[in-house]
Amino acid sequence: MPATSTSPSLPHGWRLEHSYAQLPSVFHVAYKPTPVSRPEMVILNRPLAESLGLDPASLDNPALFAGNALPPGAHPLAQAYAGHQFGNFTMLGDGRAILLGEQLTPDGERFDIQLKGSGQTPFSRRGDGRATLGPMLREYVISEAMDALGIPTTRSLAVVTTGEVVYRTAPLPGAVLTRVAASHIRVGTFEYAAALDEKPNLQALADYTIQRHYPQAATTAQPYAAFLDAVIERQAALIARWQLVGFIHGVMNTDNMALSGETIDYGPCAFMEAYDPATVFSSIDHGGRYAYGSQPQIAQWNLARLAESLLPLIHQDAPQALDIANESIGRFGERFQHHWLVGMRAKLGLFTEESDDPALIDSLLEWMQRSQADFTNTFRALSSASSAMHSPEPAYREWHQRWQDRLTRQTSSASEVMASMRRHNPAIIPRNHKVEEALAAAVGNGDLRLLERLLAVLANPYDHTQEHPEEFSLPSKSEAYQTFCGT
Ligand code: AMP
Ligand code: MG
Repeated sequence: MPATSTSPSLPHGWRLEHSYAQLPSVFHVAYKPTPVSRPEMVILNRPLAESLGLDPASLDNPALFAGNALPPGAHPLAQAYAGHQFGNFTMLGDGRAILLGEQLTPDGERFDIQLKGSGQTPFSRRGDGRATLGPMLREYVISEAMDALGIPTTRSLAVVTTGEVVYRTAPLPGAVLTRVAASHIRVGTFEYAAALDEKPNLQALADYTIQRHYPQAATTAQPYAAFLDAVIERQAALIARWQLVGFIHGVMNTDNMALSGETIDYGPCAFMEAYDPATVFSSIDHGGRYAYGSQPQIAQWNLARLAESLLPLIHQDAPQALDIANESIGRFGERFQHHWLVGMRAKLGLFTEESDDPALIDSLLEWMQRSQADFTNTFRALSSASSAMHSPEPAYREWHQRWQDRLTRQTSSASEVMASMRRHNPAIIPRNHKVEEALAAAVGNGDLRLLERLLAVLANPYDHTQEHPEEFSLPSKSEAYQTFCGT
């Protein structure tokens, strides 16, 4: 969306616009954050602030990130949306988040600035509108790690504590996270619009989203079908990126899938260690609906909910609309497979394409699953010279030989292959026990040293030469790791 000339630069680089507020009033409610008693800064993302055009010196102000003071030009609102949560449709909305506005960056980009945990809204239902420090720091760490890995994601600008106690299963320190996102339009936003059953609302939302994220679709003969295809393409690419690093979102409800193609809403997410498609971390995911290996199918299921919502726009003739939508959804598997295979070839240093490549990859994954090999470290080892020579395992040595033979059928040198593999296989991921250790110190006694060290290491995940990688690359000992969404 182009920057308009009516938004002069305001103090400290704030340049907020409010295009979302121009949507029909059913999509938002003007609502202010609820001030807190004693805001204190925990962490501020200075490089991100600078990229947004903000003056970091002026941001040393916890009141700004607690909702006690608003940045110049802010018009706070809560967004309405719906969503399928674990398969069940619910009307939701921002129950504990407030959008302050859209910051226009010096590069002309537009980013939502949202406070999460900033108090109740008309959508809070029975919730207190608050968030606790552990989960907000967790979102900060994992979202910044994802960004450093090069995976599209919302970012984290700051976390402050509120000075107030929040009651969950125990009394916990309250906190507010400032989230930066390409937008907060979700699959659930479209489900909400469709549920209202008034075509002008749905069309306004679709036109807005197309203009903001998929402007090319507007120039095609069937803009809404093209829009659906473009969203499917971006999600297929995103989920492939998750799979290629072992990221498990944990709560892939339709309200947690962003139309922008960014990873959003970090709750009980975690990175898989030992390779197993059935891996689940979330304590609330009893049926394993959102297991690692199910993420592509779940994404497709969510996109089918988007497609259903768009039917009235896709074609005025209902059966024809359904045919078009079904065809689009049916292509997801092939698009995901394409992105996944491109990524896997890069992870294995394969610069050419052979028809047996999928079988070669599958056989490595089968071996990893049988031997409970760490996903990240297996690829990390393959990226550092002749890793198999000393392996005592015949099955691994055999696979390794097959891979070496495959490499000889391309012209690239061994050093080229290794250098490329190190750019595609992270040496460092946010290991569950390192995240927990850092959060425990930060939440338990306000000690941020481990957190800052962890963030520094995670900022360069493809640096295979970091000084103390062992501590950050060993898998956690505990097998039954569980994450909690902490809402
Ligand atoms: P999430 O699980 O974070 O994706 O949230 C799902 C829905 O529950 C959203 O509508 C949230 O705004 C709402 N929600 C989560 N926690 C709270 C809370 N503490 N107070 C009010 N609403 C909440
Ligand atoms: Mg959510």
